[in-house]
Amino acid sequence: MSKIPEERIQLLNLCPENPKGKYILYWMDASVRQKNNSALEYAIELGIEHKKGVIVLYCLHTKGRLSSRRRARFALESLRELEKTLAARGIQLAVVYGTAQELVPSFCVSACALVMDCAYLREDRIVRNEIARNVSCTCIQVEDNVVVPVETASSHADYSAKSFRPKLAANLNRFLTLPDRNVPPVSTLNVNLMKLDLSDFDRIENQLTFPYDVATAIDFPGGETMADQRWRRFLKYGLARYDQRRNPAASVTSALGPYLSFGCISPVEILIRLREILKDDYLISCTDEQRELLPLNIAAFEDEILTRRELAVNFVWFTPQYDTFEGLPRWAQKTLELRSADDREYIFSFSEMKNGKTCDCYWNLTQLELVKNGWLPPHTRMYWGKQPLLWTREPAEAFRYALRLNNIYQLDGLSPGGFAGVSWCYGLHDFPFHARPVWGYIRPMTRHPKLPMDDPDCLSINQID
Ligand SMILES: Cc1cc2nc3c(=O)[nH]c(=O)nc-3n(C[C@H](O)[C@H](O)[C@H](O)COP(=O)(O)OP(=O)(O)OC[C@H]3O[C@@H](n4cnc5c(N)ncnc54)[C@H](O)[C@@H]3O)c2cc1C
Repeated sequence: MSKIPEERIQLLNLCPENPKGKYILYWMDASVRQKNNSALEYAIELGIEHKKGVIVLYCLHTKGRLSSRRRARFALESLRELEKTLAARGIQLAVVYGTAQELVPSFCVSACALVMDCAYLREDRIVRNEIARNVSCTCIQVEDNVVVPVETASSHADYSAKSFRPKLAANLNRFLTLPDRNVPPVSTLNVNLMKLDLSDFDRIENQLTFPYDVATAIDFPGGETMADQRWRRFLKYGLARYDQRRNPAASVTSALGPYLSFGCISPVEILIRLREILKDDYLISCTDEQRELLPLNIAAFEDEILTRRELAVNFVWFTPQYDTFEGLPRWAQKTLELRSADDREYIFSFSEMKNGKTCDCYWNLTQLELVKNGWLPPHTRMYWGKQPLLWTREPAEAFRYALRLNNIYQLDGLSPGGFAGVSWCYGLHDFPFHARPVWGYIRPMTRHPKLPMDDPDCLSINQID
C-alpha cells in the first residue's frame, strides 16, 4: 500500500495500463532528484506491481526553462549525478535531445504506464495534457514539489499570505510524509536506448541553440549533493541568524532557490527536518542568545519555504495572466496607471538596464552581479525588481523589463517564484501604502530612507517587513 497521499496522485487519461509493456516510464521534468521523489517512487511501486523495471526519461530542449545556457548547465550537472544514483537502484536514465511532446509518446509505445511529475506554468500544463491525450497507456501525474498540493490548499488565487497561511496549516500534517524508498524488481540498465553521453557538457550544449546564451553560474553547481550540502550548511550557520535575512551582507538565507526550483531537494523533507530541529539543535552552531531566538527563526524560514513558495504556485496556477501586468491586483494596476503621468527624472531602455547603465550605481552593481552569477539574495531582489518603475514611462513596461531580466538571468527564474516575486514588486500579495508620486499606492523601496521623497513613510531597503 502506497504511503504517497492520494491527493498527490492524478490520473491524466482513461487509457488502460499496457500489459505488454516492457517497463514503467517516468518522464522526469520538474523533480530532478532520486531522493524523496514521490513520482519516482510511485513509478517504482507500479514496477513492483507489474514486475517491471523503470526507465527515467529527461527531454533536453531549449524551449522554456532551459532557454538559458546557465539553467541548461545546472540541469545537466544535476542529471549527471542522477544517472549514477539511479543506476545504483537498477534504473536507467535516458537524457535525449527533443521536446517532451515528441519524445514521451515514442518511449510510451513500449511502456506499461507513464508517470510524470507536476509543474505549474502555462506551458507545463499544456505539455502534460497534450502528452496524456497522445499516449495509449495510462498516464499518472504525481505532485511532489509542493508540500500541500495546489488544488488541495485552495480553490482560487489567494489574495495574500494572510489568507493562504491558515489554509496550508489546515492541511499540512497529512502531507508531511516521505515516500518509501524501493528498488524495482527488474533492472533496466541493459535496455538499449539512444541517449546522450553526459560526460561532456560542452559537446551536448554545442548541439543546442540557446535563445539566452548566459554564462554558467559557477557558485551554483547543480545536483542533489550540492542541494543537500547547502541545506546542511544553512541549518548549521544560517537558520539561527535568519532574523538578519534582510541584510544581504549577512548571507544568512539558504540560497536553496535554484535547487528547489529544479526539484533537486524535496520541500517536504525540508519541512519535516525543520520541525525536528528543536529536538536536536546541537546541529546548529549558535550563541545562547541565538538559541533563544531559534523558534522564531524556524517559524520565519518555514513561512518563506512553505507559505511564500506555495503562494507563488497558487498565483501561477489560478491566474491565467500571471506573466503580464494584467495579472496584478486591480488596485495595483489602477494606481500605477494613474501615476504613469507623473514626471520621471530618468528614463532607461531595456538594454541600458540589462547592461547596468542606469543612474543608480547600487542597482547597476546588482544587475551586473545577476548577469555574472545568476543569483541575488531575497531582499536585494525586492529593491532590484521595483526600481524599473522609476525609469520607464509606463508601469506595464517596468513590469515587463523586470520580469524579462529575471527570466533570462536568474538561475531560479522562469518559475512560479519568479513570476510571483516580480509581481509582488508591483503590488501582488501586498497592500496599499501611502500614495506618492510614480509609486502610487505601491510599497516603495529606495536606497535611502528619505529618497525619492522627503517623506517619513517612505521605507528604506532595510526597513521593509
Ligand atoms: C523581484 C523578485 C524576483 C524573484 N525571483 C524569483 C525567482 O526567479 N525564482 C524563485 O524561486 N523565487 C524568486 N523570488 C522569491 C525569493 O526572492 C527567492 O525565492 C529567494 O530569494 C531565494 O533565495 P533563498 O533560497 O536564499 O531564500 P530563503 O530565504 O532561504 O528561502 C527558502 C526558500 O523559500 C522560497 N521562498 C522564499 N521567499 C520566497 C518568495 N517571496 N516567493 C516564493 N518563494 C520564496 C524559495 O524557494 C527559497 O529558496 C523573487 C523575488 C523577488 C522580489
